[in-house]
This record gives sequence, structure tokens and C-alpha cells, in this order.
Amino acid sequence: MSDLDNKPSKQILDPAFSNVIKLPDSPSEKPYLIGKRCCNCGQFTIGKKIVCPRCYSEDFEERPLSRRGTLYSYSISRVTPFGFDAPLVLGLVDLPEGLRIWSQIEVGSGESLEIGMDLEMIVGRTRIDEGNNEILGFKFKPIRS
Ligand SMILES: [Zn+2]
Repeated sequence: MSDLDNKPSKQILDPAFSNVIKLPDSPSEKPYLIGKRCCNCGQFTIGKKIVCPRCYSEDFEERPLSRRGTLYSYSISRVTPFGFDAPLVLGLVDLPEGLRIWSQIEVGSGESLEIGMDLEMIVGRTRIDEGNNEILGFKFKPIRS
């Protein structure tokens, strides 16, 4: 590959999300986030958790999280770190399980965001790495009605 070739060379699932995203096994399925439900009190969490943030139990079971959430808040960065497309929209998304998670928000051109709007989880490019690979992670995008 020449240095002038700007096309991404390959797609890689971000290792930081490898235990958080369940990719579909077939085209008819959709990806989802893997949550952890506390076996003691029912509190949901996501990511590497050693203890439940509510009751300090260490007993968890994995559960699929809802693919839909609502937009709690967001910010738009017009200057971004290396590898990230600008503008970069980061939002806090409320899930029905009682979780509020950070996520990139994919906004189409001409599309605007509103607090409280419905969002859908997708897997897509979050950034490009130093090797010009597309790094995939989870994002949320507005549900077009
Ligand atoms: Zn708990």
C-alpha cells in the first residue's frame, strides 16, 4: 500500500469494546450491547465491573441491553483528535435498563438532535488508527420516523 492511498485498509472491532458488543451471527440479526445485571439487586452495568455500584455484590449475569435509548445530552466537537471525523458528536444515552452511557452519536447531514429523542444502537466506524484501519465500535443514531 502506498502512502498516498487513503482508503482504510481493514476494519477492526475496537478491543476496548470486544466484551461489550455482540455482533450478529447472521444478516437477519442486529448487534447489541452486553450488559451485566447484578444477581443480588438487579442493577444493570456495562463494561468491566468488579462490584455492583448499588449493593457491592460481585455476582453478575450477562444480559442483552436494549438497542433503543433516548438522548439525555450531547456535545459537538468541531476540532477532533487524530483519527476521529469532525464534527464529533458525543452523547449520553439513557437505556430502559436504567443505564446512562456515553456514546458517539451518528448524525446525518441536515439532521438535528433533540434532547429526549429516540436513538438506535449501531456498530460503525468510530475512528481511524495509525495504520489507517477503520476501528469499529458502538454508536447511537436518531431513529428516522
Ligand atoms: Zn447489586
